[in-house]
Amino acid sequence: MPRAAKPKPEPVRIRLKKNDLVEVITGKEQGKTGKILKVLREKNQVLVEKVNMIKRHTKPSPTTGQGGIVEKEAPLMVSKVMLICPKCATATRFRLTTTAEGKKARVCRKCKELIDG
Ligand SMILES: [Zn+2]
Repeated sequence: MPRAAKPKPEPVRIRLKKNDLVEVITGKEQGKTGKILKVLREKNQVLVEKVNMIKRHTKPSPTTGQGGIVEKEAPLMVSKVMLICPKCATATRFRLTTTAEGKKARVCRKCKELIDG
């Protein structure tokens, strides 16, 4: 029996970018929406504003003069979030298209509206 070639891990093409409005579609943060603060491409994760907050304890430092608990966003897997179409105002699937100017743009599958301005 010929040995089957090992399937290479498919690099996930992240179609989301900074400042996109997304909704969490699964997990404990389900239903929350927020703006993408950062895309971590090498990890397939995104940081979403005010979503998946974690508490960090910090020591008092001479510069800030205070310590305590700081809340910050923890990265989410990109598969857990969905882009929100500004027109539909809901999380939608979208596809890529090329505009008349030759630019890549994302189009909402529901309303066919361009998501990228
Ligand atoms: Zn739409």
